[in-house]
This record gives sequence, structure tokens and C-alpha cells, in this order.
Amino acid sequence: MNNTKKASRLIKLESDYGAHNYHPLPVVIAKGKGVYLWDINGKKHLDFLSAYSAVNQGHCHPDIVKAMTKQAKKLALTSRAFYNDSLGEYENYITDYFGYDKILPMNTGAEAVETAMKLCRKWGYKKKKIPEDKAKIIACEGNFHGRTISIISMSSDPDARNDYGPYTPGIELIPYNNIPALAKALEDSNVAGFLAEPIQGEAGVIVPDKGYLRAAAELCSNANVLFMADEVQTGIARTGKLLACDHEKVRADVLILGKALSGGMYPISAVLADDEVMLCIKPNEHGSTFGGNPLAARIAIAALEVVRKEKLAQKANTLGDIFRKELKKIKSPRIQEIRGKGLLNAIVIKPIKGKTAWHVCLALRENGLLAKPTHEHIIRLAPPLVITKKQILKAAKIIRKSLKDI
Ligand code: PMP
Repeated sequence: MNNTKKASRLIKLESDYGAHNYHPLPVVIAKGKGVYLWDINGKKHLDFLSAYSAVNQGHCHPDIVKAMTKQAKKLALTSRAFYNDSLGEYENYITDYFGYDKILPMNTGAEAVETAMKLCRKWGYKKKKIPEDKAKIIACEGNFHGRTISIISMSSDPDARNDYGPYTPGIELIPYNNIPALAKALEDSNVAGFLAEPIQGEAGVIVPDKGYLRAAAELCSNANVLFMADEVQTGIARTGKLLACDHEKVRADVLILGKALSGGMYPISAVLADDEVMLCIKPNEHGSTFGGNPLAARIAIAALEVVRKEKLAQKANTLGDIFRKELKKIKSPRIQEIRGKGLLNAIVIKPIKGKTAWHVCLALRENGLLAKPTHEHIIRLAPPLVITKKQILKAAKIIRKSLKDI
């Protein structure tokens, strides 16, 4: 069987036997290393999605693979019914790394967001003394925090939300990047928390005005409301600082991390907070069979070490500036806007003669770069942060050529 036939067969298998909850670009990946992905025909592509920013450290980073395989041979899972010889070290390491008293380890990003919501409500009742069942969480229009029922109850995206009701109560949506709307919402003394992405990733890399996060955090602090930053996509060096909140020297009361916490090797997420908040949850009140398992603990330490050792935040900052400068030089009637921070960027595509962002992504694939549209007209461009300047310049060239080709 030649490889083109093999690719069609593999795509058909996914279509025949898998739920149709995704619409992937027609390319079948067989191998990844650093910034590159190879399809089953052996064609090499620059990866400009990084598995939605999970692979900030590059595909199959040797240090992470080493830590993972070493631990996998020794001990993978005990559950939290017992102590293990990796979790405590990880908890010590990560709380020191991000500067919080405590971590609550989970697996996926959505689980970490759910955990933060539960923690916030618990704090609201135990510490803020909100009357029973009255706690409210404020979230932002255009958000993406995951796919669970409570999380999509906060969504304003019909695709994520429609026909999944009834929705979880106790949530209020306000416009993103709008301080007066937040101030108004915080007038209600039953508000326990405000949840926001420092940059809205899935919405299409929406960067709020300078000063927004700082003003939002200050309003929350004055109203005795927890400021919860969902840094699942923006965190861990992606935007040119360790956390996107660091751009405004904001320290969230509750920090939510996922994705690159494992360098893409394994689902690992975390909620970080200080004792005053985190210790509101007592034994048996929350948990996860896999959360904080020894394998995850070792992988996360290795993944965070890579970020520090290879100065990935500084790299994202410098290369992001170069990348946007190069993109802005491209003269194409199809480019409506270029925006982003660090190496989390997006091009807004103006559809011309029925050719949309999807067609641009197909052309990019032909020319050796993989990216995926978000919301019809936006292409997110987020390569692994181990990318070099030479590769960034090559990517800009490919994008220029692809826009011309279609
Ligand atoms: N929060 C944000 C900001 C995200 O971007 C995502 C995933 N795109 C999630 C949460 C959910 O993460 P997961 O898919 O691992 O559940």
C-alpha cells in the first residue's frame, strides 16, 4: 500500500470509528521532534500550533522523555490513597517556581478550571461568608476554559454551548477587556471570583488593553473577590514571560495551568493558590485518581526545568517581536490584522472569492507549515518556543508564499 493510500485509510478509520467532534486538517502525523512534525509520507512540516500550546518545549524533548521513561519503569500510579516518593518533591518544586503556598494537581485543563471554580465557591462560603448556594463567579464573553458542563455554562460560543443545557447556575458573563463592566458586576457581594484568560487564545488571540489585568486584579482585591487567571494556554513562557499576568506584574489569587506543564508528553494540570484559599478544601472534598501521580510529577519537573534552562520566555519574547514584524511586511489583501504577544499570534484572514482561513491552512500545509483556523477567519500561529530565528524567518516566508498561492 503506498503512503497516500495509507493516509486516506487512516483518515477514514478516524471518521468511521471516532466521534465526529473534530474537523482535522487532512494531514496524518507520524513523528515529531523539536519544531518539526513529519507526516506518514515523510514530509517535514514546521508545527505552528504546538498542540494548542502544549508543546512549548518542542516535540519529544529529550530531557522530558528521559524523565518520563525513567519514572515509567519505576512507578506510574499509586492514586492519592498513599503517599509516593515523587509528588511531594514536585509540589515543593512547582510552588517555589511560581511563588504560591500550595498546588492542587489535576490532569486536563478543563479539570483544573473546574477545580478552581470549586475552590472559589468553597472559599466564598467558608471565608467570605456568602449565604448558602448564592456564590457567583464572573467570567468573560468570548472565553474558552474547556468542555465540561459547568465550563460551557460560561461560554458565549454557540458551538461550545448549544443543546448542552440545562446550564450550571451561579455564573455571570461580562464583556472581556471592559473594566466598568467588571466594576459593576463586583457590586454584588455574593461574587466569589472573577475568571479570565490574560489573552483569549481560542477566541483568536484577543489581547486586552494594557493595564486591563492590573485594573481587574485591583478591583477584585478591593471587592474581596478571587482573581482567577486561566493560564492554561498563555502560561509557561508562551507570551514572552513565564506567565502572561507577569506582563502587568499581576499575581492571580488562583492560577490555573495545564498544557505545557508536561511539554505535551502527558495530561498534567494544576491549580496554585495560597493557604488562605487552598486549605478551604479538606480531605475527601475533591480529588482525581490520576492527579499528581508520580509519572506526572517527574514529567512536570522536567518540563519546567527545560523552560528555565533554555530561557524559553525570553526566546518567545524576542522571536515574537521578529515574527510579527516579518508578518506585517507581507502585502496581501487577505490579511486583515496581525496580533499577538510573544509566540502566541494570529492572522485575521479576509475571505476573498470564497477562500477562507481553512484554504490558507491547506496552502500552508502544502508549503510545509501546519496551523489550524480558529473561528472561521483566524489562524493562530504558535510554534514550539524552541524555534530558532532562522526557522521563524522561514515560516514568515512560507506564510507569504501561501497567501500568494491561493
Ligand atoms: N483553558 C484554556 C485557556 C484553554 O485554552 C484550554 C484548551 N484550549 C483549556 C482551558 C482546556 O484544556 P483541556 O483541553 O486540556 O481540557
